[in-house]
Amino acid sequence: MKLVILSANPNLYSTRRLVEVGEKKGHEMMVVDHTKCDLVIEKKKPIVIYKGKELTDIDGVIPRIGASVTFFGTAVVRQFEMMKVFTATESQALVRSRDKLRSLQILSRASLGLPKTVFSNYSKDVSSVIDKVGGAPLVIKLLEGTQGLGVVLADNRNSAESILEAFNGLQARVIVQEFIKEAKGADLRAFVVDGVVVGAMKRQGKEGEFRSNLHRGGSAEIIELTDEEENAALKAARVMGLGVAGVDMLQSARGPLILEVNSSPGLEGIEKATGKNIALQIIKYVERNAE
Ligand code: ADP
Repeated sequence: MKLVILSANPNLYSTRRLVEVGEKKGHEMMVVDHTKCDLVIEKKKPIVIYKGKELTDIDGVIPRIGASVTFFGTAVVRQFEMMKVFTATESQALVRSRDKLRSLQILSRASLGLPKTVFSNYSKDVSSVIDKVGGAPLVIKLLEGTQGLGVVLADNRNSAESILEAFNGLQARVIVQEFIKEAKGADLRAFVVDGVVVGAMKRQGKEGEFRSNLHRGGSAEIIELTDEEENAALKAARVMGLGVAGVDMLQSARGPLILEVNSSPGLEGIEKATGKNIALQIIKYVERNAE
């Protein structure tokens, strides 16, 4: 098969692994930088141009679209969909997953456990926002943040108020969330491919850090999910419409709480922590559907 990986950087671990595994399985693997594609749109003849040439006879696409290029990247994925090419991540699901607020609304509608969250339109009444999540300590998150940047723990009411006022003053959109203390600075990442959890790890923040992101110095180890955690991860991926998803959860006294569902989850952390060939699972998923 001729498979395209949409990735702005061929040197990234995830991109390299998908190319390596795909080639091993006898496929022709092409890394296409979606930010450098031109889309030709006319009546019933969608075309993608890359490096001056039309991309033809593509059997499947694996989008690895960074958060900063969601808008154009999604348009490229949509163009492939119009060309009737199978994509491991649908354009609609990609857009949905990049909107944190909309994602939380979708997960909540599906009755999944979530940390109690408030979103307001730069409300001046910060005190009432704080009350709504049960007071301090609480977590404040920039809507645009990734990799743990822009996630702040406010220990007490005073700091919560001043941080919220500061973000409001900057017109920075935030969500305010109850702090899940029992998680003890750890979270779970379940990697879901085609309705199956193909790997799971527990990430622990470094000493004194409540954020468990590997980019913030956290460490990861393989874990066995409970049935409840596994079901929550599968349902979250399903309601988000994602064939490939990284579902982040906190372990709480009231069961697993979904933090986020990632539509271009990295392979490095999960493959190293679990020793599993996750890239192969993604390639097999595309093989099953591209035929
Ligand atoms: P990002 O998308 O930037 O990684 P997250 O929402 O995943 O932001 O938060 C980063 C980390 O902070 C999480 O992995 C988790 O360890 C911790 N965290 C986030 N929200 C909460 C919360 N409500 N209670 C406790 N810990 C949290």
